[in-house]
Parts: sequence; C-alpha cells; structure tokens
Amino acid sequence: MIYKHDPESIRGFLEDTSNIKTGHTSGVFFPEAINELSDLLKNAVKEHRHFTIAGNGTGTTGGRIPMGDYVIAMQKLDNIGEVTAVSSNRAIITVQAGAVLEDIQKKVEQCGWFYPPDPTEKLCFIGSTIANNSSGARSYKYGPTRKHISRVLVVLPEGDLLDISRGTFIADEHGMFRLNLSVAGDIAFQRPQYSMPETSKHNAGYFSDEGMDLIDLFIGSEGTLGIIAEAELMLLPLPESIISCLIYFRNIDDIFGFISLIQDSEHPVKPRAIEFFDKNSLGFLSSKYPEIPSDCFGAVFLEQETTSKSENIDLEVLFEQMESCNAMTDVSWIALDRDEQARLREFRHALPLLVNDWLSKQQESKISTDMAVPRRAFRELFNFYRNSCEQKGFVYIIFGHIGNAHVHLNILPRNREEFIDAKLLYREFIGKTIELGGTLSAEHGIGKLKAEYLVEMYHERGVKEMARVKKCLDPFLVLNIGNIIPAEYLKEE
Ligand SMILES: Cc1cc2nc3c(=O)[nH]c(=O)nc-3n(C[C@H](O)[C@H](O)[C@H](O)COP(=O)(O)OP(=O)(O)OC[C@H]3O[C@@H](n4cnc5c(N)ncnc54)[C@H](O)[C@@H]3O)c2cc1C
Repeated sequence: MIYKHDPESIRGFLEDTSNIKTGHTSGVFFPEAINELSDLLKNAVKEHRHFTIAGNGTGTTGGRIPMGDYVIAMQKLDNIGEVTAVSSNRAIITVQAGAVLEDIQKKVEQCGWFYPPDPTEKLCFIGSTIANNSSGARSYKYGPTRKHISRVLVVLPEGDLLDISRGTFIADEHGMFRLNLSVAGDIAFQRPQYSMPETSKHNAGYFSDEGMDLIDLFIGSEGTLGIIAEAELMLLPLPESIISCLIYFRNIDDIFGFISLIQDSEHPVKPRAIEFFDKNSLGFLSSKYPEIPSDCFGAVFLEQETTSKSENIDLEVLFEQMESCNAMTDVSWIALDRDEQARLREFRHALPLLVNDWLSKQQESKISTDMAVPRRAFRELFNFYRNSCEQKGFVYIIFGHIGNAHVHLNILPRNREEFIDAKLLYREFIGKTIELGGTLSAEHGIGKLKAEYLVEMYHERGVKEMARVKKCLDPFLVLNIGNIIPAEYLKEE
C-alpha cells in the first residue's frame, strides 16, 4: 500500500471547500484493495492510529479534514463494474467507493440507464455521496442517494467487513440490531429513539426509523460508523428527452405562485427539479451572463422528463402556466438539446465559483445555510432569511432546491465584524428552522463545521443516543472523530 508523508503530498488532504484551515496529519495511506483497508483498521489500536477518510475534497463541512489523525485516501479503489439489467425497467451496477460520480453517470448513460442522484458538484466520489447521503436538483423527484443504493460493503472500525444488502438486517421491535462479527465479536445496539423531521430532505445525524434497515444507518453516517468500500447502485431507464428551462420573474409572489402551481399533484407538468435563484444570485451571474434581465426579481430552474411524442404538449402546458404567473416568458431560457442543457448546467455551477472568487478577495469565509423545513413553513423561513439579511445590510445570495423547501442562504461578509454578526445570525436561523419543524442540514451533512449545533436539533439525549451507537461500533474511537458527534459526547460514560 502506498503511504505518503511529505508536505507536498499531504497538503491537498488538509482541505475541502469548508475553508477550515487547522487540519494536520502525519501521513496518508492509499489502499489499493479492500483487504488493505480492512488491515489498516484491524491494526489501528495496536499501532496507535486513528483515521480520517478522504474522498475527493468537494465536501463543504470539513468532514475529510484530519485533526491529527492519519488519512485514508479512497482514490485508488475506483473500479466501476458493468451494468446488469434486472428487468426492463431496473438495472444495477457495482462500484468501488473511489469512483467519480460523473464517470459512473457517463458509463450508465452510454448503456441507456440512469443514476438519479446529482449533486451540483459531480467530481465527488460515489463512496462519499453514500456516506453523506448526498442529493441534488433531481432529488425533488427521485429523493436522495439513500433511495438508490441496494447494497453496501462496509469496513467497520475494528476491521470487519460487513456486506449489507437492503432487506437483510432490519431493526427488531425494540429498535435493536445484533451483529455477529469475526473481529468485534457479538455486538448489539439500539437505533436512536428520536423522530426524523417532516422535511422532504434531511441529512443531519444518524438516520433512525421504526423497523429501519441497517443499510440506512450507514448511509449518511459521514464515515463515523464505517468506511463504505463498495456499493451496488440501482439504475432506472434513461429518460428519452428532457426540457430544461430558466424562467425569470419580476416579483416574489409570482415565483411562489408558479412553484405551488407546478407542485400541485393535479398539475400535468411533473418536473424532476425545481430550483431557485434570487436577484442577488443573478447579480453575481450577470458578470458572466449579461443576457440576464436586469428588472427580474429571481428565476426558477425546471427540469422535466419528456418524450419526442409529448414534448410539444408539455411545452405548451408549461408556457401556459408561465403566462398565468406573469413569467418573463420572452427572455426566459428554454434548453431542449443536450448542448444547450449542458450550458444551462454550467450556468448553475458558475454561481458557487463566482461567489468563491468574490470571497477570496474579501479574505473572509461565507456563512452558509443548508436548512430545510416542511413545505408549509417554507415561505416563513424564506422571509426570515431575507428580512434579517436586509436589516443587517449584508451581502447575501439565496439559491437552491426550492422544490424541497431547501434553499442555501450564503452571507458574504466584507470584514471580520460582519463575519461575527453573520455567525450570530446563523444561530437564529437554526432556532427558527427547528421551531418550524425543520432540519439543520438537508444535504451537505454536519462534518466538523456544524457538529457544535447538532445538540440544538436533537438535544443532549439525541446526541448521546448517536454517541452510544458510535461507541458500540467504534469502541476505540478510530474513525472520523470530530464528525457529526462533538468529541465531548464520546468521552462520557
Ligand atoms: C460547488 C459545490 C456544489 C455542491 N453541490 C452539492 C449538492 O447539490 N448536493 C449535495 O448533497 N452536496 C453538494 N456538494 C457537497 C459535496 O459535493 C458532497 O458532500 C460530496 O458527497 C462530497 O464528496 P467528496 O468525494 O468530495 O468527499 P470529501 O469532501 O472528500 O469527504 C466528505 C465526507 O465523506 C467522508 N467519506 C469520504 N469517503 C468515504 C467513504 N468511502 N466511506 C465513509 N466516509 C467517507 C469523509 O470522511 C468526509 O466526512 C457540493 C459541493 C460543492 C463544492
């Protein structure tokens, strides 16, 4: 197994996109086979080693940044298997954790299949997207990564390999799981007893539900319970064609009116993605896209699956609805072919890049929310975000997955004072979100950046329940310490 410890090789593993700058490590291991991964963990206690798992570094919460631990880099475990059709409308593919999401998507699409999860950043590793239960625009229709995983091979913290196919390990009526492992022996633990929020996306802390499947505990556990080494992904037939569009509006009521119209279950248009860009986001984008109309208040991005037969009818219905909600139809961007859709995708991806450019000139970090609330409460949270930022005179943008009542608010501080003020406001946002029955994180996870806030959502009791599960599977605290569960909860008896 390759091991590197020179500063040049280590540097890239001390960062992700969180802007945490305090990471340090003695060295990085690059396992090339799953048994090497298992050996590293089997020998961890004997060799006094703790590990942080590294994917491709696109995470936003510092989860892969080591605070003194050794790093396990997943990049050499990157095999992508062959697509196997199980029926006319279902196929599977087995992949290793270090395979890049974009490469998997290209491969399955060439075979006429489709893997729905689509985080905006496609250069992430598949194992990380499972560990983080990542989602993206298409999660509006298809849900997060969890819904598309039928099997995972996990390396547990003591080195055991646990092969979990969906449906094989189910919590009993007391919420207990019992495992018989060759290294760790017989272990039993209870799922946390809290209930999950009623949001359509949720990715803060361990998944827990009555009669739950063990696979769902590992999905979204951010590498704190084991390393995802390999997974089987469920594929759907590739939609014949897509209508993508970016629709501009002059005021916020029209935007909300349009969104509730297309979310109506009776409505004939059934988009797979409903995204939002506020005026300030469009202001950033207009430096690269001068065609954005200056008198619009915001824009809605839609993606709708269609067929060559139904495309014209779908477009007609869509235009009707746009007109009925006073959309700026003439200047809106309708992308019907693959090249134009790729340009529109680039447009969406350009926003975080332009914002990061701007921030690098200010030398301050952004404060960004990833909270979601039940749909009925979304307008209240949205108004709270906007009014608070306007009152403070902050530079801010609001964009993202409005179909899931989940937008990202980024406050962009111009100096230290604004940064401190924005952090205080962030706490108020957490309070408001929880009051509205929402979640601290809908997709990016908790990592190290947001661990301190988890107790506000789950209270002491919930965090202690997570810590109990963690300590049962990882009694020597070897793996991804500092992620999700604040360290002080792992010390307590
Ligand atoms: C511009 C931009 C847009 C983004 N858009 C989205 C989006 O739309 N939706 C979304 O959900 N996320 C989004 N993200 C966040 C990010 O892409 C995801 O969280 C992604 O899953 C991280 O993958 P990575 O390979 O870069 O992981 P890393 O950042 O390297 O690691 C992330 C975490 O996963 C753990 N980990 C990595 N591999 C494994 C493994 N095999 N087993 C167990 N734990 C592991 C790490 O320890 C760490 O805690 C975005 C990020 C950026 C920069």
